[in-house]
Amino acid sequence: MRGSRFTALLLARPPETTLQCPFCKAPDTRVIDSRLAEDGTQVRRRRGCEACGQRFTTFERAQLNMPNVVKRSGDPEPFNEDKLRRGIEHALFKRPVTVERVDHAVDSVMRKLRASGERELPSRQVGEWVMEELRDLDHVAYVRFASIYRSFEDVNAFREEIERLQKHPTAEQRKSQMSLLAEASGKSGDSKPPKS
Ligand SMILES: [Zn+2]
Repeated sequence: MRGSRFTALLLARPPETTLQCPFCKAPDTRVIDSRLAEDGTQVRRRRGCEACGQRFTTFERAQLNMPNVVKRSGDPEPFNEDKLRRGIEHALFKRPVTVERVDHAVDSVMRKLRASGERELPSRQVGEWVMEELRDLDHVAYVRFASIYRSFEDVNAFREEIERLQKHPTAEQRKSQMSLLAEASGKSGDSKPPKS
């Protein structure tokens, strides 16, 4: 019977690789939910540990070669996602930005690195992409990062940057401006006046 042989073959395949619990180190965790993310380029899985009950999320994506990053000294080094994330988190220290939005910023910079198709990119370019993300996330973090990264030549250059920022609200600010506008047009009188 072909059918049963086929089934036997399927059963004989090695089990799906298991993932250890990052909390209690139990050797196996269960997939609770799987869905596509980032326009289908990622699989996002919610996993649960039956030993300790903790839940966590994993992302799976195709491993494409990332370009090397050429430092100011001229030395190339392999792209390092942890380093990118630490740089962004450092700028965002104690700022009200969620982990999800940090993840998104890291992904976005990495997508640009991959999309460049280059084998090497100057670290300056990566820094510019990080600044684009931070400008949209949090202006304080942006200024922290930019002041180190771009080492503003003088006070005027710094002031110009701050003025540019004021014309470029973050995603959060845009959202709250929208809701203030909606409030102002929707309700009369009792809504809070927009902050100037
Ligand atoms: Zn566990």
